[in-house]
Amino acid sequence: MKIKADYVNAPQWKELTVKSRLPEQLKCLDELAHNMWWAWNYEARDLWRSLDEQLYEEVGHNPVLLLERLSYDRKEEIVHDKAIMKRVKDVYGMFRKYMDVKPDSKRPSVAYFSMEYGINQVLKIYSGGLGMLAGDYLKEASDSNVDMCAVGFLYRYGYFKQSLSMDGQQIANYEAQNFNSLPIERQLDADGNPLVVDVPYVNYLVHAYVWRVNVGRISLYLLDTDNEMNSDFDKPITHSLYGGDWENRLKQEILLGIGGILTLKKLGIKKDVYHCNEGHAALCNLQRLCDYVQGGLTFNQALELVRASSLYTVHTPVPAGHDYFDEGLFGKYMGGYPSILGISWDEFIGMGRTNPDDHNEKFCMSTFACNTCQEVNGVSKLHGWVSQKMFSGIWKGYYPEENHVGYVTNGVHFPTWAATEWRKLYAQYFDESFMSDQSNEKIWHAIYNVPDDVIWDTRMGLKKKLTDYIRVKFRETWLKNQGDPARVVSLLEKINPNALMIGFCRRFATYKRAHLLFTDLDRLSKIVNDPEHPVQFLFAGKAHPADGAGQGLIKKIFEISQRPEFLGKIIFLEDYDMQLARRLVSGVDIWMNTPTRPLEASGTSGEKAEMNGVVNLSVLDGWWLEGYREGAGWALTEKRTYKNQGYQDQLDAATIYGLLENEIIPLYYNKNDKGYSEGWINVIKNSIAKIAPHYTMKRQLDDYYSKFYTKEALRFKKLAANDNRLAKDIAQWKEAVAERWDSITVVSKETTMPSTGMETGVEYKIRIVVDEQGLNDAIGLEFVSVTTDKNGEERISNVFPFKLLGNEGNLYTFEAVVEASEAGTYKTGIRMYPKNENLPHRQDFCYVKWI
Ligand SMILES: *Cc1c(COP(=O)(O)O)cnc(C)c1O
Repeated sequence: MKIKADYVNAPQWKELTVKSRLPEQLKCLDELAHNMWWAWNYEARDLWRSLDEQLYEEVGHNPVLLLERLSYDRKEEIVHDKAIMKRVKDVYGMFRKYMDVKPDSKRPSVAYFSMEYGINQVLKIYSGGLGMLAGDYLKEASDSNVDMCAVGFLYRYGYFKQSLSMDGQQIANYEAQNFNSLPIERQLDADGNPLVVDVPYVNYLVHAYVWRVNVGRISLYLLDTDNEMNSDFDKPITHSLYGGDWENRLKQEILLGIGGILTLKKLGIKKDVYHCNEGHAALCNLQRLCDYVQGGLTFNQALELVRASSLYTVHTPVPAGHDYFDEGLFGKYMGGYPSILGISWDEFIGMGRTNPDDHNEKFCMSTFACNTCQEVNGVSKLHGWVSQKMFSGIWKGYYPEENHVGYVTNGVHFPTWAATEWRKLYAQYFDESFMSDQSNEKIWHAIYNVPDDVIWDTRMGLKKKLTDYIRVKFRETWLKNQGDPARVVSLLEKINPNALMIGFCRRFATYKRAHLLFTDLDRLSKIVNDPEHPVQFLFAGKAHPADGAGQGLIKKIFEISQRPEFLGKIIFLEDYDMQLARRLVSGVDIWMNTPTRPLEASGTSGEKAEMNGVVNLSVLDGWWLEGYREGAGWALTEKRTYKNQGYQDQLDAATIYGLLENEIIPLYYNKNDKGYSEGWINVIKNSIAKIAPHYTMKRQLDDYYSKFYTKEALRFKKLAANDNRLAKDIAQWKEAVAERWDSITVVSKETTMPSTGMETGVEYKIRIVVDEQGLNDAIGLEFVSVTTDKNGEERISNVFPFKLLGNEGNLYTFEAVVEASEAGTYKTGIRMYPKNENLPHRQDFCYVKWI
C-alpha cells in the first residue's frame, strides 16, 4: 500500500460555549440578565451599574456580557458587599413578584409578527419607528399581562452602525452580533436539543434555529438561518434588516410568515388573533390557509377562518413603500401553493393584486394582507383615512370613507421612555393607581400640583445629563472625523445646557424635511447667535443605505454645522439608537418635526418627549394632529397653501422662524428671579396633563383590544364552533351568491322622483323588484348620493337604505324614501350588494352591482 503524504479528514468542529461561573448567591443574576425586564426597570439597571460601573459602560449596558466579563475577584467582593447583596435580593424579588402573576386569560390571546423589534439597544434587531413600536408593544403586553407571543428574526448584522466621514458622507458599518453574549436564550425541543424549524423553499428546506427573548412575561421567538445546516444562499436570509435584493426580501417574508407559523406549531402554540405588523408578515395567513385545507376544509372555508382571526396594521402611507414581487420571482418560490390550496395560480397571485386579472400587476404583500385579514388599520386618525384611500382600489364598489380600514394611534411604552427622574416625580405626585390607569387624564392632572421649580430642576438635570452624555460619547467620534482637536474641544465646550435646545432626530427620509430649517441661513444664524438668548439644534438619524437623497440631507446638515457661524449651534450626533434617543427625548427643550403632510403615518418620538416635559413643535400630521392642544406646544398649520412643494417648504420654514423669534424664544427666556420662565413651565405642565395621557402604549394596547382583538376573537369562535359550522355555511352562501350574481336582475323600477331633479325637503319614493334567482333574502339595495368636495374629490353625501317590503317567490320588492337636505349638484345611483348578518362588514364580500 502506498502511504499518502498526508491523510487528514476535515475537522469535526462543534460549537461549545463556555459560561463564566457565578457564585451560588449570584445565580439569580443570570436569570435576571436573560429577561429584558431590566430594560424598563431602572432599579435593575442601577443594579447592573453597581456591579461594576466602568465595565457596564464598556459592555454597552449589556448585562449578559457584564456577568460574563466580571472578574473573579469582583464577584467575590460583591458576594461580601452587604449593600449590593441587598440590592440583588430586592431587585430579584421585584422581578419574581412580577413574573409570578398568572397570565390574564380573560382577554383574547394574540400572536404578533414583525420584521423588527426595538427592545433595547443591546439587541440590534430594529432600525426605526416600526421596530420601536413593536418592542414597546411587547413590553406593554407584558405589563398589562395579556396572553401574547411574538415572532421575528435574530439578525446576524441587524441594522447598520452609522458614522460620518470628514465631509459628512454617511458610512454604514455592519457588525456581527455574538448571539451567546445577548440577553436571549436558545429555544430547545422536548429532548433538550436546539429547536429547528424546517421551512419549505422552492423544492428544499431552510432550517432555522429559534431563539427566545423573554420580554417580561412575553416570549418573542426569533428565527435564525445563519447556521451550518443551510447553504450559503440561504444563510443570509437573517443577516440584515432591509438589506439584500428583492429575492432575499421575499425569502425573508416567507421565513417570517410561513416559518413563523411553523415555529408556533412546533411549540404547540395557538392564539385567537394573528396580528401582522406591516405587510411583511402577511404570508402567515398563507400557511394558516394551508393548515386548514390540509385539515380537510375547502379553500373558501379556510379563508373564512383565517380572515376572521387576523389583523393587518399598515404603517406606510406611500404606495411605493409597500413590497411588490414580480410574477417570475414570486412564482419561483410560491408555485407549489395553489395546488395545496386547491385553487389556480391566477386565483392565488390575484389575492395580491388590486385588479386580480391584470397580469401585468405585481404581487403586493399589502394587498394580500388586505384580502386575507378581516380587519385593517392605520396608525393615526389621519393615517387611517389616508389608508382608506390608498387601498380603495381593492374594494371597488365603495368610496374610501366606507372602507373598513380603521385606526389605532400609536403610543409609547411609558416605563421605557419616561426618564427615571420623571418616573420618580410622577410616583411621588400621582395617584398610586397611575401605572395601571395610565390613560386617565385626571391622574396626570396632578402635575399642576408640582411646584414650578421642581419641574425646572428636573428638566435642567436631564439637560445636563444629555450634555454630559454627548461630551463623553462623541469626543472620540469627532476627533476621528472632524480633524482639528482644538476645534473638537471648543465644540464640546459650546454644548450649553443653559441654551434653548431643540432636537430633530429621526430617520432621514426626504419627506421628513430635515432641510426645512436651513431654508434661510442668515435668519437661522441670527436666531442661534443671539448672545442673550442662545439656541442650539441637535440633529440625529440614519438614512437607509440605498437612500441617496436621505444621505445627501445628512451631508448638507453636517456641512452647515461645520461653518463658523453654526459651529456648536447646529450639531449632528451620529448613530441614533435607543440609548441616544432616550437621552435626547428627555434632554432637549423642544422636539421638532416637520414632515410633509400627510406622510408621517403617526410618529412616536414626539410622544416620548411629552412624558419628559419636552414640548413639541411640529406639523399637524400623524399623532400631533390629534395630540396638539393650545398652550401645550406649537403646531404648523395643516393647510396646504401651495401645490408646489418648494413654495410650501419656504412658507413652512418662515412659519418656524417666526414662531421661534416671536413666541418660543421670548417665552423660554422670560425668566423670573429664580432663573426660569413660569410661562414655559406652564406649557410643560399643560402638555403633560393634557397630551401625555393619551399617547402611552397602554392606551394603544387597550385600543387594539377594544377595536379589533375582542371583536375578532368572538366572531372567530362563532365561526369555528361545531366543527366550523358557521364558517362552512358562510362559504357556501358566498359561493351560491357568486354563482348567481350576474343573473340577479331588476324586474321593475318605479319612482316618484322627477327626471328633472329633486327639491329639498320633499320625500321621494323608489320601488324596485329584484329577481333573486332562488336565493333567500340575500340582496340589499341602497340609494347613494355623491358630491364633489372643494379639493375635487368625490365623497359620499348620503346613503338611503331600501326596505324589503316582501317577496313573491323569487321576486323581492324593495322601497326607499329619499330626501335631499341641501341643494346642490349630486351624482346618484342605486347599489346592490349581498346581505348577510354574519358578515363583519361589506368589504368582506365585495360584490357590488350598480343598477
Ligand atoms: C422612537 C424612535 C424612532 C421613531 O421616531 P419617529 O418619531 O416615529 O420618527 C426611531 N428611532 C429611534 C431610535 C427611536 O427611539
